[in-house]
Amino acid sequence: VLNVLTRVNDNTWDIPASRLPGMRVPGRIFLSEKLLSSIDLATIDQIANVSMLPGILDYSMAMPDVHLGYGFTIGGVAAFDPEEGIISPGGVGFDINCGVRLMKTSLSREEVVPHIKTLTENLFHKIPSGVGSKGQFRVNDVQLTDAFLHGSEWAVESGYGIEDDTKNCESGGFMTGGSPDKVGTKARQRGRPQFGTLGSGNHFLEIQYVDKIYDPVAAAAYGLYEGQVNVMIHCGSRGAGHQICTDHLQNLNEAVKKYKISIPDKQLACAPAQSKEAQDYFEAMICGANYAWANRQVIMHWTREVFENFYGKDVDELGMKLLYDVAHNVAKYETHVVDGKKKDVYVHRKGATRAFPAGHAEVPFHYRDIGQPVLIPGSMGTPSFVLKGGPKSMELSFGSACHGAGRVMGRGQAKHNMSGEEIQKELERQGITVRADKPSVIAEEAPSVYKPSDEVVDVVDQLGIACKVARLIPIGVIKG
Ligand code: 5GP
Ligand code: MN
Ligand code: MN
Repeated sequence: VLNVLTRVNDNTWDIPASRLPGMRVPGRIFLSEKLLSSIDLATIDQIANVSMLPGILDYSMAMPDVHLGYGFTIGGVAAFDPEEGIISPGGVGFDINCGVRLMKTSLSREEVVPHIKTLTENLFHKIPSGVGSKGQFRVNDVQLTDAFLHGSEWAVESGYGIEDDTKNCESGGFMTGGSPDKVGTKARQRGRPQFGTLGSGNHFLEIQYVDKIYDPVAAAAYGLYEGQVNVMIHCGSRGAGHQICTDHLQNLNEAVKKYKISIPDKQLACAPAQSKEAQDYFEAMICGANYAWANRQVIMHWTREVFENFYGKDVDELGMKLLYDVAHNVAKYETHVVDGKKKDVYVHRKGATRAFPAGHAEVPFHYRDIGQPVLIPGSMGTPSFVLKGGPKSMELSFGSACHGAGRVMGRGQAKHNMSGEEIQKELERQGITVRADKPSVIAEEAPSVYKPSDEVVDVVDQLGIACKVARLIPIGVIKG
């Protein structure tokens, strides 16, 4: 891949706009030289393809966790002009508002490790996982509409959480502007029984402990310290979001013809940002995003219940407070500086996390002096990280960082090469208890299918996009 990239600095590589006809802007990959081997030409071509979309601003960007996705790469960031540009579901992904939240506890590693098997088992039984899993929380149509409109806030008002939870959530727990009437019957059907479910294998609920603090000031502001046990939850909008994406992709396939947009790949289906087709998708996407926030809220609530029952203490005594919740598959209308001027743009983050710096008005007030918590999971056998939005993020990447370590090996190959049982035993030897729906999931999700999380995180840290605050080590993992 070195032949097609231009080195800008240690952690930045460009795909010149001359690489393929039709590129409107260059591609830009934030990656270290060491991680270059983790990407292939197909991934580079996807980044280049996105640069051909009308109204794209600055660069078609990719984060160090980048890998092949549907149309757009996972680990991709692309911002579009609201007049000249487009909105594309491929730039968001099927799992609308897949995201991560981190809940703190005041428990120490010593208080949890001896009980990790029971705790993991109890959580596994309480929180449904697996592709088609259904929850114990069935909602009626009125409640579902409320969830589409009010996300986490609806879940909290329905008794699944405490008031503070929404304050510690990106966008305050829900995006405004959703239109439930743009969500089809099938999406509603799929969504109704699935609140409080994790979904398939890449999604997880993980008990972790803080083993290292890099930034004591930020850690203190976030309430993190060495030896502390926390719970990380990664999931999205389940069948509801998937169906919203599927339905609107059909409309947008038609829109591509109607508006005569030339796209190099059918998966990049899109429509002019101001068109009815694009706005319909956007308003439905917001409903999907809100569903996901409600879903993570319900899962966190049940997690608290499991801990309360086990330790015989309440949420306050256990210090089970939400640190933050980030969306990593979403499009947002945000203000950025483009060509030296303030401008409202549609930012697509697909497998990318917001990383707003200190002082930004959208960082919750109590974190404003530090920057937004950026949550980056690693794998069930490697560290995850808490970072803070860095001083360079607005300038370099439309306020975005990576969302994980990123896959290097496909599921098929992983299942073929590895045994889930053996990996589970090996992790057990390292002090990590894993429970999954089926053993094949553990093979598909083996730590070695992901890039080394520390190397990926170092890239955004060195660039000043997001700066390391704390390192988290897994001890109990529930895989979807
Ligand atoms: P994605 O949203 O692309 O499916 O996954 C986001 C990231 O989560 C992956 O790139 C990977 O680094 C991380 N990840 C996947 N499984 C696990 C897990 O079981 N535990 C942790 N801590 N991280 C995981
Ligand atoms: Mn997901
Ligand atoms: Mn995800």
